[in-house]
Amino acid sequence: MRIVLATRNAHKIVEMRRIAPHVDWVAMPDHLPDPPETGDTFLANALQKARFVHEHTGQLALADDSGLEVDALGGRPGVWSKRYSAEGTDAANNAKLLAELGPRADRTARFRCVLALVGLGLERTAAGACEGSISLAPSGGGGFGYDPLFIPAGSTRAMAEHSPAEKDAISHRGVAMAQLPALLAGL
Ligand code: IMP
Repeated sequence: MRIVLATRNAHKIVEMRRIAPHVDWVAMPDHLPDPPETGDTFLANALQKARFVHEHTGQLALADDSGLEVDALGGRPGVWSKRYSAEGTDAANNAKLLAELGPRADRTARFRCVLALVGLGLERTAAGACEGSISLAPSGGGGFGYDPLFIPAGSTRAMAEHSPAEKDAISHRGVAMAQLPALLAGL
């Protein structure tokens, strides 16, 4: 099964290939602009990105829209996770998150991921979440994004201190990708 990945996030591509190595994942063609992402929910953005890539390639396309919801911040950064800080780098996003949270004790948060598969005349979606909390300082060198600050529920280590296999077993993306067989059923 060949599927075009509707993302240019190299970390996401690595994780998708790792989680579902049996799929022939194809990168988005270089000449395509970045897919639009103007929705205000993960679901809307995932569908928007997958539809865009399917319409421009004619191929089956899968998009991942994901991010971090922090309870004390009313769910932010949420769909703005990638563009949370002005700079938009992982380091700047993490620094802004620590500054906004300050020393408060209520630090619960969750990662969310919505997948959208578009093509062959159908649209199918799947979602996953990973509960946890935000630490007081970054640690670990694995993963990407907010992984150095996110401590999954039931763990004492940041996601960035988990091995790739450990992350895939509990992450929002791993939970959503576990539904891939259902997304591909009958195709
Ligand atoms: P998207 O490309 O609009 O879906 O934005 C995803 C953003 O959410 C990333 O740039 C990260 O900041 C954050 N994010 C999504 N998944 C993860 C993850 O697995 N670990 C850490 N941060 C993540």
